[in-house]
Amino acid sequence: MKKNTEKKSEILLTEEDIQKRVAELGQTISKDYEGKNLLVISLLKGSFIFTADLVRNISMPVRIEFITTSTYGANEESAGELKITDLLDLPFSEYDILVVDDITDTAITMTGVLKHFASKNPKSLKACVLLDKPSRRKTEYTADYIGFEVPNVFIVGYGLNYGHHYRNEKNIIHFLD
Ligand code: 5GP
Ligand code: MG
Repeated sequence: MKKNTEKKSEILLTEEDIQKRVAELGQTISKDYEGKNLLVISLLKGSFIFTADLVRNISMPVRIEFITTSTYGANEESAGELKITDLLDLPFSEYDILVVDDITDTAITMTGVLKHFASKNPKSLKACVLLDKPSRRKTEYTADYIGFEVPNVFIVGYGLNYGHHYRNEKNIIHFLD
């Protein structure tokens, strides 16, 4: 992809690496949710591409909804209090909920979202993240399904942004300083 920054970048995960792992995650989830009433709740904007690929690797009918989350904090650092917008009004107790996000960093987002949906008494509640950056946890947390563990660098591409751009980069990259 053409870049509008002079920064050099390196590829951490190629399009092929990602597609292979997403297919595996889809197969595992299909097995685990056999006979269940799966509701995928995807966290915008970062997980829109991962969700689109993941659900097409799930072999049963699945309901898909989107919410937006943000954390109050400075710059690229996610910090502080979680805000959930576009709250869904659904009969959650009928569903096995799988929350899907692009990356877990401090885990403020995922733990907050899970707490919110736990209060709705779903049949079950699990989380799937493509990327896990465990070195930056603020609270102890591990997702039920994880694509890849990544180092503590700012990740870009495959849905993840750099400023307002690069969500359409096909590989997962990292800009070098
Ligand atoms: P957490 O609440 O776990 O700290 O962060 C979750 C959200 O912060 C992710 O859903 C993602 O939107 C954003 N985020 C965390 N790390 C990165 C990163 O390395 N790159 C990008 N582009 N976003 C990130
Ligand atoms: Mg996000």
